[in-house]
Amino acid sequence: MSELENCLFCKIVKGLIPSQKVYEDEKILAFKDISAQAPIHYLFIPKKHYQSLADVPLSEMSIMTELFTAMRKVADQEGVSVGGFRNVINTRKQGGQTVDHLHVHLLGGRLMGGDMTGA
Ligand code: AMP
Ligand code: ZN
Repeated sequence: MSELENCLFCKIVKGLIPSQKVYEDEKILAFKDISAQAPIHYLFIPKKHYQSLADVPLSEMSIMTELFTAMRKVADQEGVSVGGFRNVINTRKQGGQTVDHLHVHLLGGRLMGGDMTGA
């Protein structure tokens, strides 16, 4: 089985694993984190598989603008842009990444701790 076929978030994109979608367009999907750390905890992913931010070819970094544009739209809609929110991107092993498909966390709806982890 190839890496892509084995990827949890690719399976979510394909609808093989259920998710609670909060946003979708041609290139981006966002869904609720299964283990929410805040009242709002969503994950924004490119539909195309990139293992991590460190695996995006520099020529394809515009995908980050797509991700953050989608994230901002949802943050605005959910009403957390006014008070504020936190984005987290964990990259590879030392960055604490546990699912090897690039994703941006959106955490909101509570006061975040100052330790950068969102804990
Ligand atoms: P990270 O540690 O940055 O790689 O984050 C991976 C995130 O994916 C964690 O917050 C998990 O709770 C979340 N997660 C794992 N499996 C699922 C799933 N099936 N649906 C939604 N979120 C998931
Ligand atoms: Zn994937």
